[in-house]
Amino acid sequence: MMTSLTRATTDRLRTGFAGELIWPGDEEYDTARAVWNAAIDRRPALIARAHSTADVLTVVRFARERGMEISIRGGGHSAAGHAVADGAPMLDLSAMKAIEVDPAARTAVAGPGLVWRELDAATQEFGLATTGGVVGSTGIAGLTLGGGIGFLDRLAGLTCDNLLAAEVVTADGHLLRASADSHPDLFWALRGGGGNFGVVTSFTYRLHPVTQAHGGLLGYTTDRAAEVLHAFRELSAGAPDRLALYAGLVTAPPAPFVPEHLRGQRVIGLIPVYFGTAGEAARALAPLRDLAPPVLDMTGPMSYQQVQQLTDGQNQPGMHHYYTAEWLHSLDDQTIEALVAAAAGASSPHSVIIIKRMGGATAEVPADATPFWYRDAAYNLDIHAQWAPTSPPGPHTAWAQATRQVARHASAGGGYVNFIGADQGPGRIRAAYGGNYARLAQIKAAYDPGNFFHINNNIPPAARAGNAPARAVNAAPDGGERAAS
Ligand SMILES: Cc1cc2nc3c(=O)[nH]c(=O)nc-3n(C[C@H](O)[C@H](O)[C@H](O)COP(=O)(O)OP(=O)(O)OC[C@H]3O[C@@H](n4cnc5c(N)ncnc54)[C@H](O)[C@@H]3O)c2cc1C
Repeated sequence: MMTSLTRATTDRLRTGFAGELIWPGDEEYDTARAVWNAAIDRRPALIARAHSTADVLTVVRFARERGMEISIRGGGHSAAGHAVADGAPMLDLSAMKAIEVDPAARTAVAGPGLVWRELDAATQEFGLATTGGVVGSTGIAGLTLGGGIGFLDRLAGLTCDNLLAAEVVTADGHLLRASADSHPDLFWALRGGGGNFGVVTSFTYRLHPVTQAHGGLLGYTTDRAAEVLHAFRELSAGAPDRLALYAGLVTAPPAPFVPEHLRGQRVIGLIPVYFGTAGEAARALAPLRDLAPPVLDMTGPMSYQQVQQLTDGQNQPGMHHYYTAEWLHSLDDQTIEALVAAAAGASSPHSVIIIKRMGGATAEVPADATPFWYRDAAYNLDIHAQWAPTSPPGPHTAWAQATRQVARHASAGGGYVNFIGADQGPGRIRAAYGGNYARLAQIKAAYDPGNFFHINNNIPPAARAGNAPARAVNAAPDGGERAAS
């Protein structure tokens, strides 16, 4: 039975909670409920900003006892706005930023409130890194739980491939450690299955030595877009795993580094980043320079943190956003032509089409080893509509959806779960997991049979046969479960 939430009814919550409780009307409320996508304007009943795992346990138990739904906020970057819901308490993890790096073991234990800029800074102190998002303000939590693609994935695998263990508060209010040896079914599901299985209060990552990088931005006029994408495809075909490759159909910003005649014009940019020596980088990129000499060349040696800042600043605060995406098995001439035309006809100058070369270490992992199904996709097509708040959303979301359709014949079968728009429905979520969906639904039934964690890219629990007990799926012999305190 659901009870309403007032300051008086949260006395019980207050006793076990050392974090902050932020109510509608409090000075901080509007800032605390805001997320990255300014199109999301929702009013949670309460914001519980946790400071510790104990706080998370308290909030989950409190909400469960009262039949309340809660939303979970990590970095707040879900463009669909899953971090916040009207009328539901928000469990805000953004203050949980502890991080401990073990340089000898090459691991990091990281809190769920960290964003990639912070995790990168801590691991780079030791010349180490793990695959992370390409915009520094993105939360490590949501990104890792959805898979995680970035500059390092061809070399080091997806972010979820580098997750070694996680501490999780489950729907029944218990704290579990999930790893290959402890609750391996839960551990499997966390590596791509999103926020469906519990609240992760710590992530343990494998780190890799990453010091030298060479890359940056190559810019071209839009009349050469098709030629440049052909060159991108050619380079992609034989690219070494140390070479990360992104292509973007974008509008050139009014920045000092952009030649004056290109500012505000549609252009095509490539971002190649080679992780290795200058000589190797020059050799890897030579075919690209021969095939398509750029009008703007901002490549050079850079630190990993500089690499990770290459696309920061592309999104101005206060803008409205909508994402949709597709895994592509190929980038054929028809797709290139259609995407170039779609970019030219974009409803907003701020909207972008990004194509990322996949493969490398990501493709070496079997498709059923984690929930991330599209291991053999050659490219990720990410369509990001972005517009000023004064403009109605319809034309922009319609443009994004139509643009995805032009590449449908080249689809590997679904899209990236972390780029699914809120309106895209259960079919898109199911398709995002391909042949792994049924197993995810079974594990959901074992760990969250009542679908308590449902404000997310939801995987409803599979119907359980007979009276089979919860947690029967591959439960670890050692359990690893700690009693509720
Ligand atoms: C500008 C931008 C750049 C991006 N770049 C990349 C990129 O390079 N690579 C990539 O892979 N993705 C990228 N993304 C997508 C990103 O991975 C998702 O938006 C992801 O949800 C962000 O995580 P967050 O913690 O910031 O999100 P939030 O909005 O805070 O959370 C989203 C959802 O994740 C779940 N969640 C969050 N924290 C927890 C937790 N501790 N325990 C359980 N569930 C939790 C919840 O379901 C929550 O509703 C980008 C997004 C944006 C907006």
